[in-house]
Formats: sequence, structure tokens, C-alpha cells
Amino acid sequence: MRDFMTFDELQLTDSLLKAVKAEGYTTPTPIQVKAIPHALLGKDVLGVAQTGTGKTAAFALPILQRLSAKAPAGGARPVRCLVLTPTRELASQVSDSFGTYGKHLPLRHAVVFGGVGQNPQVQALRHGVDILVATPGRLLDLIDQGHVTLRALEVFVLDEADRMLDMGFIHDVRRIIKVLPQVRQTLFFSATLPPDIMDLARNILKDPVRVEVSPASSTAETVSQQVYFVEREEKRALLTHLLQDAKAIPRALVFTRTKHGANRVAKQLTAAGVRADAIHGNKSQNARERALDEFRAGTLRVLVATDIAARGIDIDGLSHVFNYDLPNVPEQYVHRIGRTGRAGASGQAVSFCDSEERAYLRDIERTIRRSVPVVADAAFRSQLPPPLPGDVEDSRPPMNRGGRGPSRGNGGGGGGGQRRGGGQRRGGGGGGQGRPSGGQPRQASGGAQAARGGGQGRPQQARPAVAAPAASGPSSPPSRRTMSKWG
Ligand code: AMP
Repeated sequence: MRDFMTFDELQLTDSLLKAVKAEGYTTPTPIQVKAIPHALLGKDVLGVAQTGTGKTAAFALPILQRLSAKAPAGGARPVRCLVLTPTRELASQVSDSFGTYGKHLPLRHAVVFGGVGQNPQVQALRHGVDILVATPGRLLDLIDQGHVTLRALEVFVLDEADRMLDMGFIHDVRRIIKVLPQVRQTLFFSATLPPDIMDLARNILKDPVRVEVSPASSTAETVSQQVYFVEREEKRALLTHLLQDAKAIPRALVFTRTKHGANRVAKQLTAAGVRADAIHGNKSQNARERALDEFRAGTLRVLVATDIAARGIDIDGLSHVFNYDLPNVPEQYVHRIGRTGRAGASGQAVSFCDSEERAYLRDIERTIRRSVPVVADAAFRSQLPPPLPGDVEDSRPPMNRGGRGPSRGNGGGGGGGQRRGGGQRRGGGGGGQGRPSGGQPRQASGGAQAARGGGQGRPQQARPAVAAPAASGPSSPPSRRTMSKWG
């Protein structure tokens, strides 16, 4: 299979091509090129791709095409396709995508998730739905109450399977799978393939075609990255300072590790005259949707979110992602900054790294196999003692540096309680565990570590100050616009 193709070559019907073109897509992304032909043939697919790669269209387009080729059965309109997603936000987005791509087709779609009243969802189901997008808990409730039957199901999609397991949904997923017809097409998407995900895939896929695009260790070249070394207590002032420039930063998503932190940062920003709102799992669905809508519309410039709440959020024209707290799982950094620089557009990822987080930064750099330029802003530069000689001044990419430190420190404290069982499964510093077997091992260079922080899991504090190189512009020049993003 060639990696480059046009949409016309994918054998999609005119209605779908029209919808895709109306969205401004010119060429299919690699996951689309690889998955669509097989999915159109009715084959099971094991897709290894993260959010931001265009994976939704990779399954939605062939599903729409196959379902529309056959008229819905009789008067009653049973669910013919089920898409399971881990979060409400992702479910809404996937459902919207079916609406967008299927706007010229006579198929109906609906979305069901918890946290909102079920009556409108029940009404929609009564009306007849061809494609149902759902989170597991609410779907099971509706099945138990007899509002949904999946007996006539033709296609099942499990989206973000790894996240689904991380969030503790495995039992719900297994219960749902039990009520699906044996004969069906299954499309299984996951950003990573650790052993428990592979077990699940083996159980539910029949003779699947495996398709894979850039593993979660790669960051788009269209995202320029920067880091400020800053004291914890200065982060708030730094963020407020940077966000004053509304022209330079038209729309920013700020990540915090915890829900409490998200609330606090949003409040502090608003008090300082930068209007901001927070989204996280403790907020009502309505409040979350309102904030998201305002953010999308541009009336809210700054949204503060936890990783889980932001999962799958897809906002066009998101200029900046701020890591107010650095994540302790490197892949989370990749996911976060993948919110910007989408579909070939350029974006900026700005991270705040306090002394406690330097070990996280080192792990991130090892994972993304490049160093993140440090901004030397005298007003906010960390006054903490600097790393040992050779730690920071070396501006070569991490791959080219000698030496190899230990894996991450304790890795604790992060995740905001959101990852099941501590959730370090994919974050092991040097093990390369859980990587797709075809992907690159985390330590491919064997020398990615020498930077910041010396030999301890945490940087030592009794060191002299750092002269950090100023960051200027993107860490690597944007090139091959669209393809570099997807390639
Ligand atoms: P996804 O990985 O499905 O979350 O998609 C990420 C973003 O890419 C969404 O904003 C899509 O609208 C966009 N997208 C999907 N396919 C294409 C394409 N072929 N060309 C340009 N943008 C696309």
C-alpha cells in the first residue's frame, strides 16, 4: 500500500468525497490511506494511531460508505454501527464527525453518554439510529433498560482502546462485546498496544489487518516547543504575563495535573483580567459543553483542562498549548501538544518546569528524541541551583549526546488520580514496554539522557544557576506542511 494517495483513489463515493472536500481536506492522512481500503472491504482493522492523526475519518468514511450501500432494514431502524469511546467529549466529537462526513447520506447517527439526562437520548433511539456513538456506562444502562438492542449490528468500533482500559472500563467493554453479534466487522483503534490491549484485540478481532502510524513518541514538526524553568510559585504570574498578549496568543489550552489545579488557575487568570474557564470531570456536562462551545467560538480565549477532560478535544486554530504542570507520563505530553499544530497548521507548546519536574522533562525529551529549547526570561527564570555540568547548555538534540542516565524518578504525583492503578504502564523510563512492536523503541539512540538533572530521578537542588539558551522560533522549522504533520 502506498503511503501517499488522493481521496479520489480511495474509492469513496461522491457524497463522501464532497463532504470531505467541503471540510478542506485535500489529501488523506497516512492512517486514512492505510485503513480505508481494508475497512471498505469489510475487513477487521487493528489501527495504531493517536488522536490528531485523522483516525476518526479513517473509520467513519468506510463505515458510512458500507452502511449507505445497503438500505436500512424494514420499518424499524436498528443500530447497525456502534462506536465506543472512553470520554464524553470524544463521543460528541466522533458523532459530529459522522454528521459532517455523512451529511449527504440518508443515515442517522446519535450519541449517548452519562452525566446528562437520558430522555433525549432515548427519544433519539426510538426515532431510529443507524450509527450510535457511546461511552460504555450509559450504553449499558440503556441496554439494561431495553432502549438499545445491538442484535442487528454490522460494525463495531472500539476507539482509544488503551485509554478505555486506563480509565477502568474493561469490564463494561467486555459486557458490551458479549451482546454483539458474532458476525460483524470490528475496527479497533489504540494509540499504544501494551499486552492487555493486545489480549483484548486478539479476543475481538478476526484476522485483522494491522495499520500503524507514527507512535505517540513523535511530536509534529508544526508544533514549536519551549520550556521555562520556573519556580512553582511563579508559574501563575508567568502564565498571566504571557497570556496578556492576546494578539500573539489568540486561543490557548492550559493543562494542569489536577481538577483542583485547573479550577485554581482559571480563577487566578480571571482575577488577573484574563478570562478563562476550566473543564474537568467534576463539572457538569452542561458547564463543560458551554465552556467548550465558547472556546470553539472564540469568545473564551483560555481554557484550563486536565488530561482526561481534554482528551479528544479538537479545536481548529488552537494556537497555544501550555503545560502549566508537566505530565509525568511522556506520552501525555505528546498528546497534549498534539492539540495544536493540527492538520498542518503551526502551533506553540509552552511548558513550565519547576525543579520537581525536571526529571519529567528529561523523560519527555528522551521520548520525543529532541531537546525542548529553554526560554531565558530573566524575570521568571528559576533561581534554583542549576544542573550539573553538561546538563543544559548542550543544545544538540538528545540523540546526539553521550551518556545515559537512569530512568525517571518515582514517577509519582501525577495523573490527578485519573489513571487507573497509578497507570504507569506505558511510562516506564527505559523499558520501551507497551510500544507497538513495529514502532521505535523508546531508547533507540541509547544516549538520549544526558541533559538536565544529572544522575538522580529528581534534579539536585544544591547547584549553581543556569544560563539557559534563549528559544527562538520553532524547535524545528515547519516543513512539508501537511505531510510533515501526518507523516
Ligand atoms: P482525529 O485524529 O480523527 O481526531 O483528527 C484530527 C484532525 O484532523 C481533525 O480536526 C480532523 O478534522 C482533521 N483531519 C482529518 N482528516 C484530515 C485530512 N485528510 N486532511 C486534513 N485534516 C484532516
